[in-house]
Formats: sequence, structure tokens, C-alpha cells
Amino acid sequence: MKYLILGAGAAGLTFANRLKNIRGEDSFLLLEKNFEAGGLCRSVFKDGTPIDICGGHFLDVRYPHVTKFLFEFMPENEWNKYVRDSRIELSNVTVNSPLEANIWQFPLEEQVEYLDSIAKVGCNSGKKMPEKFVDWIRWKLGDKIADEYMMPYNKKMFGDNLNELGTYWLYKLPSVNFKETLLSCLTKRAYGKQPGHAEFYYPKKFGYGEVWLRMAQNIANHIEYGKNITAIDFNSNTVTTSDYGKYRADKIIVTIPWREFARLDGMPAELVSDIKKLKHTAVQIKYFPENLDAKAQWTYFANPALSYHRIVYQNNINDNWNGYWTETRAERVKGVLHDGKTIFMNDYAYPLNTIEKPKIMERLLDWCRERNVYGLGRWGEHCHHNSDVTVSLAMSLAGKI
Ligand SMILES: Cc1cc2nc3c(=O)[nH]c(=O)nc-3n(C[C@H](O)[C@H](O)[C@H](O)COP(=O)(O)OP(=O)(O)OC[C@H]3O[C@@H](n4cnc5c(N)ncnc54)[C@H](O)[C@@H]3O)c2cc1C
Repeated sequence: MKYLILGAGAAGLTFANRLKNIRGEDSFLLLEKNFEAGGLCRSVFKDGTPIDICGGHFLDVRYPHVTKFLFEFMPENEWNKYVRDSRIELSNVTVNSPLEANIWQFPLEEQVEYLDSIAKVGCNSGKKMPEKFVDWIRWKLGDKIADEYMMPYNKKMFGDNLNELGTYWLYKLPSVNFKETLLSCLTKRAYGKQPGHAEFYYPKKFGYGEVWLRMAQNIANHIEYGKNITAIDFNSNTVTTSDYGKYRADKIIVTIPWREFARLDGMPAELVSDIKKLKHTAVQIKYFPENLDAKAQWTYFANPALSYHRIVYQNNINDNWNGYWTETRAERVKGVLHDGKTIFMNDYAYPLNTIEKPKIMERLLDWCRERNVYGLGRWGEHCHHNSDVTVSLAMSLAGKI
């Protein structure tokens, strides 16, 4: 066929639907390892409550072309719109996120300590921005926020070796400068650039997975499920699956993790060894049916004694739903005995933004593009793209190739 799309998550589904709906293209096929479409955005129902099986998934309102496209499959009147209420639990107090905009919610003595620490940061005194994430935390936010929140929280999220992470991805984080923090303490309200999902959509009657199922329905006879891709041959643009299927196409769109290819025939050895350097984390989702007494939609937890780093309260998303789920980096619960709770394990959750990753991906994607093989989405590009960005990128690529 003309297009072979590897993976039926947000990236693959968007790319395929754009080919069909905008270009009238019929010569394409998606191969998907699972028996359902949606990838990380899938949901299941449990006791009448939808659970997002890879953790809370909320659709940011910021890209009108993306929401317009998704509303073609699930009209706007099937979504609720929310203003974000997310919190951070520290040892003695819970405050709104981001911390640096909500220091005014701490007791007065502690506000002074935080402000004193932020006043001394490197970015206020004109020091050059560091290249490592760990150094950036102290340079931008100061020692107190680093020690109380950013260091312990990010270790829980990404692992102990935060030293490996770069700073090129920090545009994703909220940006609040010292004057804004000061102003927020004086006026008792948040200032500065707020984090993503300041406003977001979530389906009224379903989990986030529903919109992707509908998208898959639109191209149902172009998807083969249960196809575990194990190899790619760049000499013949052929892909092999674990059941010995072989598929050849003019153009191949890779949305699966590059490390899923046990064989990459025809690729130079340096690029193959580069792929082995790409890192990621796995995440466990554990659902509890009872309601917690929390006001937020979700809370971040920095306390190292708690295995999880975030709780999403599904009863605060919709009055008809119950329960909450914890999100935990899988390594932190390795070997813990199963306690009968509903658990979902996601082997690929967060691509790690290591210092060397941008160069690796640039070399890899450039080389592949010359052979009509295109990396797309969270894993194809090995980037922390949220689903709205993934959709936008897939729409754009479908228009270009
Ligand atoms: C904890 C967490 C929370 C998130 N929260 C949000 C949020 O609130 N809002 C938001 O917009 N985004 C959120 N995201 C990001 C969102 O999940 C991604 O942007 C989106 O899923 C990326 O889609 P994708 O198609 O690129 O990748 P994926 O969804 O991972 O799709 C890849 C597909 O490839 C398939 N595949 C993998 N290996 C193989 C193989 N060997 N053979 C065949 N098929 C294979 C997979 O089964 C999957 O279906 C979150 C992500 C995580 C991890």
C-alpha cells in the first residue's frame, strides 16, 4: 500500500483519518499490537466510572484546529469544559499548583522563607541558564522549592538519576518570575504563566478513550489488531510482525517506540546503538472505588514515602462517577505483591528528556525521512507530546506527505 502506519494511538489514528477524510486516500493500513485503538489515551469502565488506563488524560483547549478536528468524531456538546484545579501536597500543607505562584497559601513565616530563597536564585542575578535539569531547578526556583518539592517529586516521576535530564523541554513547565511570586504573596492570588491544561475538556459520559475509538471506527477496515511489530527493513520498506506477517509500503509512519524494533535492517550501526540510548519510564495506574475528601481534580505528591506521585479524583470530574486512581512510576512498586486492586501497567509512559536525546532524534529522523520512513508522536519523536500536540503534528504530516 502507499502508507503503512505503525501504532493506532492518537498519532496513527489522526494521520490515517486525515488521509482518508481530507485527501480521499484509500491505500493505507494501521498495524496495532493491542486489540483496541487509542494507545495511552485508552479508557475502561469500572462500576460505571471511566478510568483512563494510562492516568488522567485531559484535552487542552489551546489549539482550536485540534479541538475542531476531534469534535468531528465526538461533538463539542459531548464534552464538559473545566478550569484546572490541581494541588500539591507537601509535608504540612496542600497548596495550588504551580507552587511558585501560590506561595501565598503557606503560613506567613514559610512564605518569607520561600521568598528569601527565590530572591537569591541565579536567574535573578543574570547567571547563565544551566544545561542540566537539576541545576536549572535551583537556578530558576531556588533551594527551598527544590528541596521541598521539585527534587523529590521529579525523582518519583523520572527516577533517581535526574542528572541525565536536559532543559530543552522546560517550555512545558509554568513560568513565574520573582516579581510575580512577590505580587501573588502581596495580593493573595496567582500570577505568571500557568501550566498546561489551565482549561480543558473531558467527555461527559465516557473516558478520554472514547474519541479515539470513534476515530478508529471511521477507518475500521484499515486497521489490523493484535499485530506486534518486531522488525523493519529499510532496504525494501518492509515491516515484520511477530506472527511472521510482512507489510511493504511506499511510506511508513512510525508511532511505536523505536526500541520495539528488535531488528532494523539496513540502518547504520551508530543509529541502531543510538536507539538503545533512548530512555523511558513505565507507569502503574491503580484504581480505588471509594471517594476521597479532596476538592481538586488531581494532586501531586512529593513525599518520598508515598509510592505514587499523583492522584486523580474521578468523582471531582463528574458527580455521577466515583473513586480515584494513583499514578506511580512502575519501578517504585516493582516486586510489591498484588493486593487485588484494579491495576493497569503501561510499559511506555514518559520518554526521558536526556541531554543527548535531541541530537539522537535529529540524526535518526533525518536518516529515516530520506528513506520515506517518518517518526511521529510521543514515541516516534520520543518527546513528551501531549495528545493535542500529537494530533496537531499528525495533521500537519498528513498534509505534507
Ligand atoms: C501519565 C500520562 C498522562 C498524560 N496526560 C495527558 C493529558 O492530560 N492530556 C493529553 O493531551 N495528553 C496526555 N498524555 C500524553 C498522551 O498520552 C500522548 O500524547 C498520546 O497518547 C500520544 O499518542 P501516540 O499515538 O504518539 O502514542 P501512543 O498512545 O503510545 O500510541 C502508540 C501505539 O503504538 C502501539 N504499539 C506499541 N508498540 C507496538 C508494536 N511493537 N507493534 C504494534 N503496535 C505497537 C501501542 O499499543 C499504541 O497503541 C499523558 C501521558 C501519560 C503517560
